[in-house]
Formats: sequence, structure tokens, C-alpha cells
Amino acid sequence: MAHGHDEGAAPDDVRTHLRQHGLRYSRPRAAIVSFFREEDRHVSAEDLHQELQARGTALSLSTVYLNLNVLSDAGVVREFQGKQGQKLYDSNVSPHYHLIDKDTGEVVDVPAPTVDGVPLGTFLKRTVEAATGWELEEPKVHLRGRAPASADDGGD
Ligand SMILES: [Zn+2]
Repeated sequence: MAHGHDEGAAPDDVRTHLRQHGLRYSRPRAAIVSFFREEDRHVSAEDLHQELQARGTALSLSTVYLNLNVLSDAGVVREFQGKQGQKLYDSNVSPHYHLIDKDTGEVVDVPAPTVDGVPLGTFLKRTVEAATGWELEEPKVHLRGRAPASADDGGD
């Protein structure tokens, strides 16, 4: 077995990971999961399509879309909306919120604040469920605004 880092995660590892989420192993899924493991960032389907192509994994854009949806439904990646409302995908499925810069579209992770020891979203969900009897999905919180000006913003 080679230990080269250009191979990404070991195939067996990816296979196990997919199986744990009830998914069959396929080459597109393996390529996408490997990408997220190495890069851990927020990408659109188009970005991912290009990134994979640059790595020599030629998948059609529709294949990338389809598999991102499958992985999202299975909870392997998380879907959220970027600056323009476009779908972005995140390999970090732990409770956190996104700060989205209105100007640049930059996305920054911020840990979910907790209330009574549970993440804010979970607290909101439980409280409203208890009050109404509804069964709710985990709320999606998007925080839009502007990043602080960088220190070297002085110009000439
Ligand atoms: Zn994130």
C-alpha cells in the first residue's frame, strides 16, 4: 500500500464511511468524500466539479450535483445557502453557523452558541416543538454581514 498523500483517503476507509451512512460505494461518491476530507471547505457544485477536474477526476456537472444531493440527504455533507442564495456544501456537519460576507461571499464557520447546554438551533427547535406540538427540522441559521476591515486596508 502506498502512503502517498495524493491518493486521498484510503478507498476502504471511504467505503466504510459511506456504508455507515447507508450509501453504496461509487467512484463519484468516493472522489467527493476524499475531496472534502482533504480540503474541508465550503464549495458549490460548480466549484467542486472544477476542483475534481483539476485533480484528474472527470465527472459531469450533473453527476456532481446528483451525488452531492445523495450525500447531503445521508448527512455526509451539509447543504446551505451562500451569498447569492446559491447552494453550497460543507463537509463539517457538526453544529456550527455560517457567517457570510455580503460583499465578498466569504464563508466563515462559527461554533453554535449554546443555551442550557444544547446548540442554539436545537434549543429553538425543542422549545417551539414543546410549545406547539409540531415536529420541526433543525433550523438553518444564516448570519449575513460584513467582515471587519483587514489591517492592511490603508491603500497608497
Ligand atoms: Zn461550515
